[in-house]
Amino acid sequence: MNGLFQQYLQQASQHIDNVLQNDHFSLHEREIGRLIRVSSGVASVSGLPNTKAMELLRFENGIMGIAFNLDPDEIGVILLGEDTELMAGSRVERSGRVIDIPVGHALLGRVIDSLGQPLDNSGSLQAGSRWPIERDARPIIERAPVSAPLQTGIKVIDALIPIGRGQRQLILGDRQTGKTAIAIDTVLNQHDKNMICIYCAIGQRGSAVAKVIQHLKKHDALKYSMVLVATGESTPGLLYIAPYAATSIGEWFMEQGHDVLIIYDDLTRHAHAYRELSLLLRRPPGREAYPGDIFYLHSRLLERATHLKQKYGGGSLTALPIIETQAQNLSAYIPTNLISITDGQVYLSPVLFQKGELPAVDVGKSVSRVGGKAQLPSYLDISGPLRLSYSQFEELETFARFGTRLDEATRQNIERGRRVRETLKQDESRALNVFEQIMILLAVNAGLFDPLPIAKVKKAGLQLCSAVADRFVSQQHKIYNGERLTAEEKDQLLDFARSVLRTEDLITSRF
Ligand code: ATP
Ligand code: MG
Repeated sequence: MNGLFQQYLQQASQHIDNVLQNDHFSLHEREIGRLIRVSSGVASVSGLPNTKAMELLRFENGIMGIAFNLDPDEIGVILLGEDTELMAGSRVERSGRVIDIPVGHALLGRVIDSLGQPLDNSGSLQAGSRWPIERDARPIIERAPVSAPLQTGIKVIDALIPIGRGQRQLILGDRQTGKTAIAIDTVLNQHDKNMICIYCAIGQRGSAVAKVIQHLKKHDALKYSMVLVATGESTPGLLYIAPYAATSIGEWFMEQGHDVLIIYDDLTRHAHAYRELSLLLRRPPGREAYPGDIFYLHSRLLERATHLKQKYGGGSLTALPIIETQAQNLSAYIPTNLISITDGQVYLSPVLFQKGELPAVDVGKSVSRVGGKAQLPSYLDISGPLRLSYSQFEELETFARFGTRLDEATRQNIERGRRVRETLKQDESRALNVFEQIMILLAVNAGLFDPLPIAKVKKAGLQLCSAVADRFVSQQHKIYNGERLTAEEKDQLLDFARSVLRTEDLITSRF
């Protein structure tokens, strides 16, 4: 009998040792609760009175959940896995930690889910450390003004709605208007710009995400990017945490001094997932049935994008959140929220898309509040007056549609504006560098395209780009070093453009 008791004691102490080694808690702190009910990605748990907000809870079958609603006798939990195997009455344990994600250089080129598990077939992740997905935004005192441009390679954006590194620029528009295309083209254009890109897909179809990944691979862009995916089939919990997880990964790179670009595609689906969770957990619904803290949800996410002072590493995190509008309604709840949180927006119009004016950017409804200050000076010289003259042209054109008789100067203005619009058209995956853009804008401003029929202008611009590619090395050097071009240098460029357009005999043939 004594021997049996000794054996029992030994087993018990072995068990206690195991528990102490494997858990963050010492035994007396360990708390075990019970699952009361579970449905559609949320659960209610009782018996864990000391649980902290956003703490991870572990269910019996290994599924994790986030403590979300902390009521005195019951905790509302967001589940991070499938709930099919959970049963009422089963055990739930506190983990003592908040949810985190692997960070580090090992993530480049990888495709992961919101929990940091690899979704590609490139083996396990050897990330150095893990960071919590919710982190405080950097204090204002550590931030520097946006001062360097982020070149998208898309003329209409770089010239009229320029984006700076550290800026938050919203891309919004109805479905199928080219929102993802703009974001992905921007990623492709970063191939030689020392930028790390993160594409965070939220709530899209798996096939659409696979297409994006394939596109990035084809253009060899995955080597400086990574993709974090929570598809439409994922639980709402995984959709909810996806952008925060992606931002923590971006912040890690930023704090190493890198420039980072992060794309959230799209936050409408993120808001939907959060609304679903909140309603299931019986939080009171407000406007459009969203919970009261929906604004805070996105502002605390986007506030983490910034440009750090040199003293703090000098890195930057530029955010391009994407939003889908319904029937061009910019004043719906989520679009207005995001417009007020971000530093500007690129609005894509389905009307322009149908007309074939691609990218379908509606310049009148788009704005960039900080990027203009970050443009390269020689580029700013040329693109600066363009925005005003372009919007004046659009008004004139609308007016002229009523069959008004126009004087010669106005007619010329309209003809020039039409050619500017034509030069701003650009195909997908056909990014232009700053020098090529300067060349085209100089030429159109100087009226070199005026003799051409409109249908030939776009091709003439491209012809000019390919002719100019390896020339004017000293001017290119100056442009990229942030120096202004002198009047003589601009004249040299224009003379060259004239000769190209003349020798190509654009008016008669070839285009
Ligand atoms: P969704 O609402 O489904 O997410 P979206 O707004 O992200 O759509 P995209 O998928 O980027 O739109 O683009 C829609 C279609 O338009 C695609 O077939 C894309 O190839 C085409 N497209 C987008 N931009 C251009 C462009 N500049 N030139 C030619 N085609 C384009
Ligand atoms: Mg899209």
